[in-house]
Amino acid sequence: ADAAEAIVLVAALQRVVAVLGELEGELGRLDAVAGDGDHGRGMVRGAGAASDAATASADAGHGAAACLRDAGQAWADRAGGTSGVLWGAGVSAAADALGARPAADPLTRAARAVRAGVDAVAALGGARPGDKTMLDAAEPFAGELERAAAAGVPLDVAWRDALAAADAAASATAGLRPRLGRARPLAERSVGTPDPGAVSFAAVLTAVWSAARA
Ligand code: ADP
Ligand code: MG
Ligand code: MG
Repeated sequence: ADAAEAIVLVAALQRVVAVLGELEGELGRLDAVAGDGDHGRGMVRGAGAASDAATASADAGHGAAACLRDAGQAWADRAGGTSGVLWGAGVSAAADALGARPAADPLTRAARAVRAGVDAVAALGGARPGDKTMLDAAEPFAGELERAAAAGVPLDVAWRDALAAADAAASATAGLRPRLGRARPLAERSVGTPDPGAVSFAAVLTAVWSAARA
């Protein structure tokens, strides 16, 4: 079971890299409105390093949690930028949660891992919902998964609903003013454009899902 999970994880990360590659220009354009324009590049570099590390880890016979831990470390080391450090920390925390309590059903495991990742990003970056960061998409995503897990909703329905919540929340960041990060000095200029980190969060989790159910 552990080897099978690791294979799904590697496939998911490869899909994330492909999707971010397609979105690279758009994410850069969003980040250039009030930031420094490097978000697409940083996400592609970080996810690429994460995918390579997870692949090597799986080839060495490690299970999903160990692969994800290596992926998080590589993402933090190689992405560059604020989002790379935060994604690295989030992925690493999700990996620890995945490894901690392997007995639960898949949705509960996923919900716990996502919650741990989102909480790690919040703790490290100090952002709160409404600050116009990736957390504005990540927090509703985690919340939806937790609600669904508690209600016993099937995994595919739960993930689809959580993605819808993250997508809507990412789009809604267009109306916000950034209170943290590189976009803050040009906060007014950013109004009308969604936060690049919130948009990429929704895209990453969409890619994970499309790979996991293939
Ligand atoms: P940088 O700002 O260093 O160039 P990126 O452009 O890769 O890094 O990432 C910018 C994104 O990082 C923002 O759109 C936002 O979503 C996210 N971000 C920035 N600061 C924080 C923070 N303190 N907490 C959570 N997310 C943050
Ligand atoms: Mg940037
Ligand atoms: Mg930068």
